[in-house]
Amino acid sequence: MRDDKDRTRRNGLRVYGAWAGNPGGTLEDTSKCVQGVWSEGRGALEHQCNRNRGHGPGGLYCKQHDPEEVAKRAEARAEKYRKEREFQNRKNTALAIGYMMMKAGYDTEIKVRALLKGVQ
Ligand SMILES: [Zn+2]
Repeated sequence: MRDDKDRTRRNGLRVYGAWAGNPGGTLEDTSKCVQGVWSEGRGALEHQCNRNRGHGPGGLYCKQHDPEEVAKRAEARAEKYRKEREFQNRKNTALAIGYMMMKAGYDTEIKVRALLKGVQ
């Protein structure tokens, strides 16, 4: 996402979706969230988020694009990813131990299952 402070402005209003075919772009609607968003699909242009503003710094954002909320969601995703990795690592360790036990001659399907339960 482009930082709002880097956005082009004209007469104090933010400019969205400027390109060769529409060099002037579209001027900010001051009742709407300032975040630039892209529509689905190829060749889509950036446009202003169409939700009402009222959140975040200066009340310039909608709830979804409030930078604090965006950061919180990113942090939650990172934490979820970290936990999944940790679980996979523990599971892989348990599988390796089970494999070594079987190779060492333990007839231990039950023990290996118990071991796997311990990490799940
Ligand atoms: Zn928004």
